[in-house]
Amino acid sequence: MECKEIKIAYLEYGSIDELPQEEKELAKAAVKAANASYAPYSNFNVGAAVRLEDGTIVPGANQENDAFPSGICAERSAMYAAGAHYPDKAVRELAIVGGPNHTICDDPATPCGACRQVMAQFQKKAGKPMKVILAGAKKVWVFQKVDDILPLIFTSLDNK
Ligand SMILES: [Zn+2]
Repeated sequence: MECKEIKIAYLEYGSIDELPQEEKELAKAAVKAANASYAPYSNFNVGAAVRLEDGTIVPGANQENDAFPSGICAERSAMYAAGAHYPDKAVRELAIVGGPNHTICDDPATPCGACRQVMAQFQKKAGKPMKVILAGAKKVWVFQKVDDILPLIFTSLDNK
């Protein structure tokens, strides 16, 4: 038996304004996208924005429903909107921001497991690393690839 470790590398910034220009622009698009959040049950409003390989930015926001499983997270709504409107363009980056009652948490809001798996699929489809930016008001984390936020990614057998 051997004990193994997995290390995760990410960058930490003190605010959205400290980010490099392109990442700042995407994080601010996520903040704007949160205005469209519909979260009457959790009151936790989340915005997301993806940047495609040609620079196009596609927003998303969480949408809740009386039938709870029918709702969708902000990051999945953004990724699926990108997939539906621009099926041939790879997603390069994803930014997420959230907080209660249209505020932004000090620490980054982190994506649920289902969204991480969808990120993995978009990265696989793109064939190159997809950057993930998790923005809080006082802390921003930047992951260079989905693998860093979802270690031991599930992939179908055709990839092994
Ligand atoms: Zn999610």
